Amino acid sequence: MNVLLLGNGGREHALAWRLAQSPLCAQLYIAPGNGGTEEFGINLPVDPNDFEAVRRAVVDHNIRLVVCGPEEPLVRGIQNFFSTDDQLKAVYFIGPSKEAARLEGSKAYAKAFMEEYGIPTAGYQRFTADEMEAGERYLEQSHAPYVLKADGLAAGKGVIILNDLEESKRELRDMLRGKFGDAGTTVVVEEFLDGIEFSVFVLTDGESYRILPVAKDYKRIGAGDTGLNTGGMGSVSHPPFVDADMMRKVEQRIIQPTLKGIQARKLDYHGFIFIGLIAVEDEPYVIEYNCRMGDPETQSVMARLNNDLMQLLLETAEGGLSSAVIDMDDRQVATVVLVSGGYPGDYEKGKEITGLDAVQGSMVFQAGTRTDEEGRLVTDGGRVLAVTSYGDTYEDALAKCYENARRITFDGVNFRPDIGFDL
Ligand code: ATP
Repeated sequence: MNVLLLGNGGREHALAWRLAQSPLCAQLYIAPGNGGTEEFGINLPVDPNDFEAVRRAVVDHNIRLVVCGPEEPLVRGIQNFFSTDDQLKAVYFIGPSKEAARLEGSKAYAKAFMEEYGIPTAGYQRFTADEMEAGERYLEQSHAPYVLKADGLAAGKGVIILNDLEESKRELRDMLRGKFGDAGTTVVVEEFLDGIEFSVFVLTDGESYRILPVAKDYKRIGAGDTGLNTGGMGSVSHPPFVDADMMRKVEQRIIQPTLKGIQARKLDYHGFIFIGLIAVEDEPYVIEYNCRMGDPETQSVMARLNNDLMQLLLETAEGGLSSAVIDMDDRQVATVVLVSGGYPGDYEKGKEITGLDAVQGSMVFQAGTRTDEEGRLVTDGGRVLAVTSYGDTYEDALAKCYENARRITFDGVNFRPDIGFDL
């Protein structure tokens, strides 16, 4: 069966790696893919947000399974485009409908959903532009740190945490006056939760679910979790503090009611649910839902998932997950991301990447890379590539990542030296 994977990040390189290993996958196409995905399939110059172009690719290449990596096409309704089109509706599609993707696309929707189904999350209120004063009063009655969230997708930049009340009120006003465009016409103000974060990934066919390997990611640019937020600087699977007792709580209090809510609201959901969690004194709370896999968690999670991914995804699409058995690798896996100098601020592209052939005992997943006119691999984004390694312990896995990260060079290369520092 021919497969089309949408996206161009390290996440997609890792998914492509696993998909291409399946005997069920005849030919893998990636749209648009990156310098690394070419190793496992054929890159197509197609924008995943251009649904008509995706349709042409599906028809031209006789695609039977589409896997959507990023959130934007899902939030814009690409699954609905497939399910309502005579020519496309027989194609298996991994990713929720537009309505279901609101769990990620609207924080106010997600909070109301959690409230309705009794899912533990931070206390909150939502405000629109004509409720600015009520929002300010709510902030006055709350206490620092103040957490302000633009309702819609804001490329990971729409969450602002401040200690100063006046600054928070100013920020609320700026957000409601359009700082984040349409994404911020509603703002969620929520209670600050002090704890340690981790991510749980679930595959669901809408009825049954299977829990994939758990991961922890590191978002800040600087050592010790300091500095600006990034798309993600590294990940570890399995974070040791997430023990069986914690996972029992997560399953009973969070995953099961989430599925119940999806069913009660008749949301069409065949795909990944990424639940961002925070453990506060051993009790799990939901920070956010995402309707797709995370990056760079996918690199670590896919390395630990020994199942035939294609078979799991077909079961997800067909409603047959109840018989699936997840086969997790017992080893620990870590991922360290190499970024361009200056990222997450301004950075230059087109720097030649060398040393990939010196990497030993780790995998390298590419993200912001491209092959230039002279056939050289060059940087083409902020997050350039990810080094992923196995180890008996997460320390071993990380040591291997760092050993190999140091072998890869490009002008301005930067990586966090302390992934896993808090484990
Ligand atoms: P991303 O897309 O980068 O995952 P996002 O923009 O969807 O993020 P959230 O995941 O909701 O936003 O929040 C981003 C980060 O802000 C979280 O990973 C967490 O570190 C912090 N955060 C969010 N909500 C809270 C909270 N209530 N208490 C403490 N920290 C929080």
